[in-house]
Amino acid sequence: MKKQDIADIKHLLSSPKKIVIVPHKNPDGDAIGSTLGLYHYLKKGNHNAQIIAPNDYPNFLKWIPEEHTILKHDSQTKVCDTLIKDADIIFTLDFNALHRAGNMETALAKSNAVKIMIDHHQAPDNYAKYIFSDVSMSSTCEMVYHFINMLGDLNEIDSTIATCLYLGIMTDTGSFRFPSTTSETHKIIAHLIEKGADNAQIHNNVYDSNSYNSLQLLGCALTNLKVIPESRTAYITLSQEELNKFDYKKGDTEGIVNYGLSLENVILAAIFIEDKQEGIVKISLRSKGNFSVNDMSRTHFEGGGHINAAGGKSYLSLNHTVEKFISILPSYNKALNNE
Ligand code: 5GP
Ligand code: MN
Repeated sequence: MKKQDIADIKHLLSSPKKIVIVPHKNPDGDAIGSTLGLYHYLKKGNHNAQIIAPNDYPNFLKWIPEEHTILKHDSQTKVCDTLIKDADIIFTLDFNALHRAGNMETALAKSNAVKIMIDHHQAPDNYAKYIFSDVSMSSTCEMVYHFINMLGDLNEIDSTIATCLYLGIMTDTGSFRFPSTTSETHKIIAHLIEKGADNAQIHNNVYDSNSYNSLQLLGCALTNLKVIPESRTAYITLSQEELNKFDYKKGDTEGIVNYGLSLENVILAAIFIEDKQEGIVKISLRSKGNFSVNDMSRTHFEGGGHINAAGGKSYLSLNHTVEKFISILPSYNKALNNE
């Protein structure tokens, strides 16, 4: 971000403002952690801040301070649209194209508020007046930390803000193991622990909150795991019927795709999850090294994300989606075997 942008934003925030903060649809730990971290910071500056999520998020995120104040646009559309229309400033966090906010897209595009994007995904759109975009960042939470620092307010970080930011750095780095984790990330994490983030408790809240059914669903997913050795690829399917059998709840499939990537010699992993209600197959892709699942997802599955983690969707049946995936793999064999 340019020095002038920071000065402008500092000036903008020097008097109380009506602020709406928006994460992407199907918010994850980084989306919820970054929006809540920023929310608590802005509240300390006496702003009238409100987080509006496009839709609900998993139960394993429902313990973060003030999380219950988050409005959901899909079930509270009218009140949310009014807040968006009346806002002075709209922060969009952890996404960089308005369609990633689902049905909020129209209201956001129409709003005259000053828009500020903070995000670490590839290829940002140009809808915001101020764009803080950095694909080298581990997480949007790490960027919110830098944002607060750029505004000269690191001393405002208390245990609540530290907890929120720790959460998203932890979830987006796979607990500090993905290549996006830098020494700077660790320094920030150390500072957040000093400020009062309870690292063991946060980890426990997120990762040790499985239900019996969600573990059985994981078992089903692992039973469905297939490997294509010549493409160094593993994939998993979950049909709507299987999800129903194990009483699927939002968040139950989070992280399952990574099991494929834990296989020796596999560098591309996918999961295909049938969603009959939305009429789509939701796709998650993960890779190791330089193989870009962001490119693969943009080219074939109407999605995007990062080099090593991306998502997308398909309107074909579950079987046909898998067939399509298998049919495109040979064109990537060279890249996959050069890793
Ligand atoms: P996940 O597979 O966990 O849903 O998402 C992996 C990464 O890709 C996340 O950073 C997420 O924000 C992004 N992502 C997931 N689905 C989509 C999508 O449909 N479109 C785009 N552009 N990005 C996505
Ligand atoms: Mn993120």
